[in-house]
Amino acid sequence: MLVAGAGMAGLVAAVRARELGLDAVVVEKGSRAGGSMLLSSCVVWRHLEWEDFRADCPGGEEELQRLVWERLDDALAWLVSLGAEPVWQDTENRRTTGKRFDPRALTELLASRVDVRLQTPFPADAPSPLVLATGGFGRRLAEERGLFLRANPWSSGDGLDWALAQGAEVTHGMGEFYGRVMPARPARIHEEDFVRLAQLYGAEARVLTDEGRDITPRKVAWHENDLAQLIGPSAWYVVEHTNEHIEAARAAGGTVVVRRDGRIAVHVRAGLTHTIGGLRVDANARVRGLEGVWAAGVDVGGVATGGYSSGLAQALVLGLAAAEDAASSR
Ligand SMILES: Cc1cc2nc3c(=O)[nH]c(=O)nc-3n(C[C@H](O)[C@H](O)[C@H](O)COP(=O)(O)OP(=O)(O)OC[C@H]3O[C@@H](n4cnc5c(N)ncnc54)[C@H](O)[C@@H]3O)c2cc1C
Repeated sequence: MLVAGAGMAGLVAAVRARELGLDAVVVEKGSRAGGSMLLSSCVVWRHLEWEDFRADCPGGEEELQRLVWERLDDALAWLVSLGAEPVWQDTENRRTTGKRFDPRALTELLASRVDVRLQTPFPADAPSPLVLATGGFGRRLAEERGLFLRANPWSSGDGLDWALAQGAEVTHGMGEFYGRVMPARPARIHEEDFVRLAQLYGAEARVLTDEGRDITPRKVAWHENDLAQLIGPSAWYVVEHTNEHIEAARAAGGTVVVRRDGRIAVHVRAGLTHTIGGLRVDANARVRGLEGVWAAGVDVGGVATGGYSSGLAQALVLGLAAAEDAASSR
């Protein structure tokens, strides 16, 4: 089996495939394994209540959401059985449940169990069985929209483009993304600052366009992903008092000003972490319309559509589903 992409989805698919007796090789376009997982907070979670998941992500496909929601706890137990050590046994968020891992340790554990070929994009004439796990098209969407890319630099839609050329279908929400509001230029944001520099106080802020128009939404979701969609390439957060996020933005060289009315204004822009729309798959992670091709992780659309859910949970569960179905179809 060929697996395209060595992020969470691809590594999990390959490790599970090998456990089930398939000969799996992972090809990775970038210079390291781990994809965006390596840069992440590595909290692998699901909504505690099924109804909350549906309410938070109303545009998603129920069958896929159910797969992720129902299989995550067993999938986490599988990771732990491999030797992954949670650094948190739960998420510290009353709406969700899951586990947090050390991203470097988890990447090393998974990558040590499979053959990963770095700086090797998957070939156009890729053989079957093939698992597409190339991480969506975040880089392309960020460039098109003028957004900051808060993700690995290599996920530019290669899996999606290849599958579309073969006749695959895409889901709704191709313009949606999961992201965070970040300090705007000239702030310097390195990969290791992606988590620390997120401006997570949007629920208390007035949101103004660069022209001063007030676009503050009436209600802000708990995850603030809706604010990242609203803000786009440039806006201002205006708050009564400074906080640790604002001080971090200032220290990184971001624009933070005290207005004449004494309020603090922070120049911000959306940072795109991954795309939410993607390939349509069935509940076995098979790409609809293609024979012998599976997709996993954020190459797949229809899980978080309309909202926000765990990209790592999607990668873990769909990676397992793809490997298990490929093994049973031999
Ligand atoms: C700062 C940050 C914090 C985050 N925090 C969390 C969190 O706490 N919880 C959570 O659930 N999610 C979080 N996420 C999101 C999560 O990391 C992603 O949703 C998840 O890692 C996606 O996994 P993936 O395997 O689908 O894709 P990716 O991790 O993007 O992996 C795809 C891989 O495919 C490779 N690739 C691309 N094109 C090709 C090609 N042509 N051939 C071969 N390889 C290719 C890429 O180089 C990459 O290594 C966070 C992300 C970031 C950046």
